[in-house]
Amino acid sequence: MKYIFFAIFFNFFSCHSQNQNFLNMAKLKTDKDWKEQLSPEVYHVLREKGTERAFSGKYNNHFDKGTYICAGCSVDLFESSSKFNSHCGWPSFDESLESKVETKKDFSHGMVRVEILCSNCGGHLGHIFPDGPTNTGMRYCVNSLSLDFIEE
Ligand SMILES: [Zn+2]
Repeated sequence: MKYIFFAIFFNFFSCHSQNQNFLNMAKLKTDKDWKEQLSPEVYHVLREKGTERAFSGKYNNHFDKGTYICAGCSVDLFESSSKFNSHCGWPSFDESLESKVETKKDFSHGMVRVEILCSNCGGHLGHIFPDGPTNTGMRYCVNSLSLDFIEE
């Protein structure tokens, strides 16, 4: 029995790439792990799908060159070159880094929206709207609390 368990466990990890292992580890974190790791504000947004007050976030009017990473697992999510001023009160991007952001239908608050999540740790980032002003036509509306920034 022990052997079977080990074989399944080993298989689970061995058929994924190194990067995928990292992915699985972040997704395996418990609520308690996240509570210990994150500040209460960041925990509320990333793990309880909270929304920071409009115009309150530190990256709303932030246009330095660099990379925005996930505040939960530090994976790269957005390049500063995709950020634009949407005047909506939250950091806005017209595209994410490839396959780093997942989408999910969100029916909360009596609206139908599309939620965006970090594909590595499942942390809530914000929502995406098809009203972007650039050629992608998209507006990734992201909470500053979901992000950290690495200057170029
Ligand atoms: Zn993440």
